[in-house]
Amino acid sequence: MKNWCGYSKQDLKIIRDFVHEINNEIIVKIGTSKNWYCVLPWYKLYLGAKKQEKWIEEIRFNWCKKQDFYFQANMNIISLLHEIGHFQTFNLDEWQERNAQEEYLQDLYCEGKIDIVELNNRYFDLPNEYKATKWAFEYYKANKSKCENLAKLIKI
Ligand SMILES: [Zn+2]
Repeated sequence: MKNWCGYSKQDLKIIRDFVHEINNEIIVKIGTSKNWYCVLPWYKLYLGAKKQEKWIEEIRFNWCKKQDFYFQANMNIISLLHEIGHFQTFNLDEWQERNAQEEYLQDLYCEGKIDIVELNNRYFDLPNEYKATKWAFEYYKANKSKCENLAKLIKI
């Protein structure tokens, strides 16, 4: 039986092995949100839905395309690598700053001062988010066949 995210047990094992080759301290679990997310600094990575929501995919993709480090890559793999990137580039001060900024951005959004696109773009621009995404693209570039093989194996 598949869990709500759409990953089979075999998929999970493959993802875990992939993550652990990079960092074997990371605990990989199934999340409760459609998006991939992680809990720092407790080394927990939560899987999002296999099928991401179109609108958020589009905002993320448009943001990525504007970055110097961008190249054509499987964006689902980038999402996974982005979360691993948080662990690989972790800095406590930046993380605390990020949490404060995230709350601030959410307030602006709730007050109708910025729209959903700007909310996400400004979020992706936060130093720790930017670093995790950059790390993801760099890792993908240096390990292209491994990353594309993972996409094929778990069909994302
Ligand atoms: Zn992130």
